[in-house]
Amino acid sequence: MNSDQSLDQSLENLLDTPSADQELFELLRIQSVSTDSTRVPEMERTANWLQHKLSSLGFEAAVEATAGHPVVFAQKIVSSDKPTVLIYGHYDVQPEDPLEEWISAPFEPTVRGDRVYARGATDDKGQLYAHVRGVQLLQELGDLPCNIKFLLEGEEEMGSPNLGAYISANATRLAADVIVISDGSRFDTDIPSITYGVRGLTYLEVHVQGADRDLHSGVYGGAAPNPINALAQIIAQLHDEQGRVAVPGFYDDVQPLSPEERAAWATLPHDDAVWAASIGVSELIGEVGYTALEKTWGRPTLDCNGIWGGFQGEGSKTVIPAKAGAKISCRLVANQDENKIYSLLEAYIPTLAPKGVKVTVKPHHHGTAMVMDLSSPYFAAAERATERAFGVKPVFIRTGGSIPIALALKTALKCEIIFLDLGVNADNLHSPNESFSLKDYHRGILASAYVFQEIGKLGKNL
Ligand SMILES: [Zn+2]
Repeated sequence: MNSDQSLDQSLENLLDTPSADQELFELLRIQSVSTDSTRVPEMERTANWLQHKLSSLGFEAAVEATAGHPVVFAQKIVSSDKPTVLIYGHYDVQPEDPLEEWISAPFEPTVRGDRVYARGATDDKGQLYAHVRGVQLLQELGDLPCNIKFLLEGEEEMGSPNLGAYISANATRLAADVIVISDGSRFDTDIPSITYGVRGLTYLEVHVQGADRDLHSGVYGGAAPNPINALAQIIAQLHDEQGRVAVPGFYDDVQPLSPEERAAWATLPHDDAVWAASIGVSELIGEVGYTALEKTWGRPTLDCNGIWGGFQGEGSKTVIPAKAGAKISCRLVANQDENKIYSLLEAYIPTLAPKGVKVTVKPHHHGTAMVMDLSSPYFAAAERATERAFGVKPVFIRTGGSIPIALALKTALKCEIIFLDLGVNADNLHSPNESFSLKDYHRGILASAYVFQEIGKLGKNL
């Protein structure tokens, strides 16, 4: 046995699964639905419960007020010579409805087979609690190999409206060498993964105005400008024949996928045809020359998310509408600037308008794309830790989604983020019958302990 193997054995022996399970179940029973104003006391109860648990582990832990639900902040500094890891998680959960689709009550954790079923089981109480137990395990073994801070928020499922302000105001207290977030799904059931890139977002609305009122299509049709026809023409010109976004300058700042990245993704077990079948379509679309994983993880997009105009009621109405509109969003990749992309679209879209209509563009919310520096030793540490916990090397992946709060953390703390995903999509996060495999929970506890050990080995100030 090498030293890691004997360490792993002692940690596994210490992992008391009945007690770890019962504590998680207790946390899952609290109905912390952040969007439900009748459950404010439950939110406070959850925050207090976590604060109490972390205090019992010797953390300096506090429930701290925000303009909305409170944040739990806890830290244990063992030595200024050791690196500091900040764990981010959220203790709020999605609403449980539709209640009738749950096989067992959403706030009465129920074990069926290897899984515990409850709202929040995987997203994110189970995943955040794996880190709490990971710390506990190391303390039972002897000592913490690094300094640890927990930032647990109660508003993630409502878009973290107050966390940005909290992070800016507390950047010094939150300071860390690396951030670890476990709030997602790994690549596949048998394939652990570490996510190192998220896409950004530019969201806007296009309004097309024709005549000053709806018109009779018999009296005016053929001569009066039609905003719906005009909008369709505009939208049709936003992509070229190669599936590329046809907005001048759109790709100027795109960080191209490296040959190494493309080669690594090509080895992942993913079949575009199977993926197409899984969403009920005969073929996938998009930029020529890229696989579906490349299109969704590493390339920018433009999509209409909604469209309106004219008569939508039952039967027919012969009308030339006065106005039409669409909601359009772009998923962006590093190093595109979401505000610059908005400006490009705001300037370009009106130039596509056919005669006789007036086009205006209005902004919605934006988000910044980011990709981590995989050459950072923290990723090698996370890779070793994940392999120790899962028995296979993790794959490094990106996500097509956007995680705005992660960027706020990265910007304020100026360090890398390791997205150590402990769940799988089959956990039904946000859906009825959400669950978490107890095997994954236990492996997650070990992965957490191993991550702290591996980061501790790196020492301070890399
Ligand atoms: Zn979550």
